[in-house]
Amino acid sequence: MIEFETVSKIYGDKKAVDDVSFKINKGEFFVLIGPSGCGKTTTLKMINRLINLSEGFIYFNDKPISDYDVSKMRWDIGYVLQQIALFPHMTIKENIAQVPEMKKWKKKDIADRVDELLNMVGLDPETYRDRYPSELSGGQQQRIGVIRALASDPPVVLMDEPFSALDPISRKNLQDDLLELQTKIKKTIVFVTHDIEEAMKMGDRICLLNQGRVEQIGTPDEFIHHPKNEFVKSFLGNMDVHVLKQIQLGDIAQPITEVSIGEINQFPKVKPTETIDHIYGLLAEHEAIVMDKGEEVPSHIVTRKYVFSYLAGKNRGVS
Ligand code: ADP
Ligand code: MG
Repeated sequence: MIEFETVSKIYGDKKAVDDVSFKINKGEFFVLIGPSGCGKTTTLKMINRLINLSEGFIYFNDKPISDYDVSKMRWDIGYVLQQIALFPHMTIKENIAQVPEMKKWKKKDIADRVDELLNMVGLDPETYRDRYPSELSGGQQQRIGVIRALASDPPVVLMDEPFSALDPISRKNLQDDLLELQTKIKKTIVFVTHDIEEAMKMGDRICLLNQGRVEQIGTPDEFIHHPKNEFVKSFLGNMDVHVLKQIQLGDIAQPITEVSIGEINQFPKVKPTETIDHIYGLLAEHEAIVMDKGEEVPSHIVTRKYVFSYLAGKNRGVS
């Protein structure tokens, strides 16, 4: 769907984006992450040509983006910004309707679409469509920012730290909403964040940038279990214990080697899909937990000591 081939962006003598290559699949939630100034926004804006690339190629549906008509292409790529960027003098309906208006949709179709989108994010159209942005909370305004980007049903949506200006509770709610929405709409989403927890929660795959270069691309699981280098490990080290506790028993259980069968039977058995969060309580009373894969003789176990040191970063290579 979107492919970067050895793409660089050069400002003066500085490479803001340095020889970046990746492929984003249709319907994928692809997260760009990295420290401030690593080139996330530049990478994102090159996709819809708000910034021109210096070297390499970007393909959109196998065609170089330079072959597309810029304004038409932008209509087919939704864009959500960090700062809530609704037009204050326009109603919610008028804000959402912008791209459909430009595309000259029929009035009735636009009105239906606005109501459909408001319903999708749990905002009653009757109540909200004629309000002005200032009459909504920050979280509600950013919900409008998200559905405005979806208004004309674009196949691709770019989001640049869309939730980072929100308070933690609104932020969590919008993350949950977007994940649920995505199961229905299956857009190709390129999502920028500097927050590793948000990346792990939202991304099908994550691309970690550092000084314009790709450090690692992979699923959240691959990041946790196979961090490629020290930079990746230390970036993951920022993860909150709360997120780590969402990791499943099956991801960290170790082959049983030393324990005799008699001893194994005294430990509780838990399914591999249970999260650490869930088995934490059991570990207060039991030295270890056996993984229940339905085997006659269990093969994997996790000890209290292992889980504690895992949460402390020891078995993840974080020092
Ligand atoms: P991020 O979004 O990851 O914080 P950016 O993509 O905004 O990073 O910026 C990447 C690097 O490029 C930074 O060092 C930034 O200072 C530099 N940069 C961004 N825009 C410009 C510009 N218009 N002129 C010169 N340097 C820029
Ligand atoms: Mg940025």
